[in-house]
Amino acid sequence: MSFDIVVIGAGPAGLCFTRSLAGSGLRIALVERQEESALAAPADDGREIAITHRSQRLLRELGLWTRLRKEEVGTLRDAMVLDGDDHAGLMFRHDEAGTDQLGWLLSNHAIRRVAYEEVMTLPEVERITGARVGAVRTSAAGAEVDLDNGDTLRAQLVVAADSRFSETRRAMGIGAQMRDFGKTMLVLRMRHQVPHEQVAWEWFGHGQTLALLPLHDAHTSSVVLTLTPPAMRELLALDDAALEAAMAERFGHRLGSMAVAGPRCAYPLVGVYAQRFVAERFALIGDAAVGMHPVTAHGFNFGLLGQDLLARELRAAQAAGQSIAAPALLARYERRLRLATRPLYLATNALAGLYTDDRRPARVLRKLALGAGARLSPFRRLVMSGLTAEHGGMPAPLRLLRRPRPA
Ligand SMILES: Cc1cc2nc3c(=O)[nH]c(=O)nc-3n(C[C@H](O)[C@H](O)[C@H](O)COP(=O)(O)OP(=O)(O)OC[C@H]3O[C@@H](n4cnc5c(N)ncnc54)[C@H](O)[C@@H]3O)c2cc1C
Repeated sequence: MSFDIVVIGAGPAGLCFTRSLAGSGLRIALVERQEESALAAPADDGREIAITHRSQRLLRELGLWTRLRKEEVGTLRDAMVLDGDDHAGLMFRHDEAGTDQLGWLLSNHAIRRVAYEEVMTLPEVERITGARVGAVRTSAAGAEVDLDNGDTLRAQLVVAADSRFSETRRAMGIGAQMRDFGKTMLVLRMRHQVPHEQVAWEWFGHGQTLALLPLHDAHTSSVVLTLTPPAMRELLALDDAALEAAMAERFGHRLGSMAVAGPRCAYPLVGVYAQRFVAERFALIGDAAVGMHPVTAHGFNFGLLGQDLLARELRAAQAAGQSIAAPALLARYERRLRLATRPLYLATNALAGLYTDDRRPARVLRKLALGAGARLSPFRRLVMSGLTAEHGGMPAPLRLLRRPRPA
């Protein structure tokens, strides 16, 4: 079977990329190891994805946004950063940025569902589900992808979107820097007595990091808790009633009573950055290229950015009758994605380290950063414009670290 492009992985990045090429005249095979039924009705994986203004525009352009149900879109109006026992915190308000809201919150499984619905409408896409990619071979003559069902797909270009632990990346001999933070992140939807008022929290406590992501319902949020693996195992062994009491306690009872309202999903925290994003007739997108620590909420936003960069290059080449696998085209994609992501990847790792470090120097540095930032209102305006700018912004804590100058 021959195609122009084989896309490996029908996660959010692979699906959005495939959708971005609609109408370009390129014939695409989309290979996914999960069955079709799992793609059409994705399981709730607990993840709530914070979406920047730029990403929201891209999702609109791809036709995904209008497919979302009203109750699937949460408003991220303001954000608050708390450090340790400091209960006042640092507020980042939408009006300082001159926008109605800082961003949106969407469930990952809702993004997957609407992206798949869109891709299902495309006649130029052959969906090959329930099939795992085994080997990938590329040469000047073309690319071949072997599936575990015995089929071989031929194409001009292979694009891998097969997760941060990409087997294809490895099969192509591309290494990756991996940083294992040695922590586990629990994401859990909870109902709470006190309304969230559409304010996201990031709370760097002693021995734990907490976040609260406001969902559509005023009394329901996604609770995100980072702990060491042994502490997380202990917490996950609790029954619902004990877990609810433990979470209310961890939030200092600021939300009143809390009740479990979704599945308990735990993720190991590992950041990944591929050493190269391209090879001969081959490109990486999504987490397979850049797998971010979730603390700065950039993973999918970067995935959207990267697939858009590559799709634009491919559409332009196709329209001009040029090769879609030209080394210069792939090199340009790599350069642009690296430029857009590398500084933030490094800064996010530094931030994640600093904010989960309970030793005294780290605590002092955090206090300094938050204190200076809180006092300077021009500084706060700068943060806000970054969060809401079209190019997508750096989240508040990251900017705090970059500009903690005293008044
Ligand atoms: C707890 C948590 C919170 C997050 N919060 C945010 C946030 O607020 N904002 C944000 O922007 N991002 C966030 N992210 C990141 C975001 O979820 C990811 O960046 C995004 O889901 C990655 O999408 P992807 O398509 O690249 O990879 P994946 O979602 O991992 O999809 C990869 C796909 O490839 C398939 N596959 C793998 N190997 C093969 C193979 N050999 N053959 C065939 N198919 C294969 C898999 O089955 C899967 O469907 C968060 C992540 C986590 C864990």
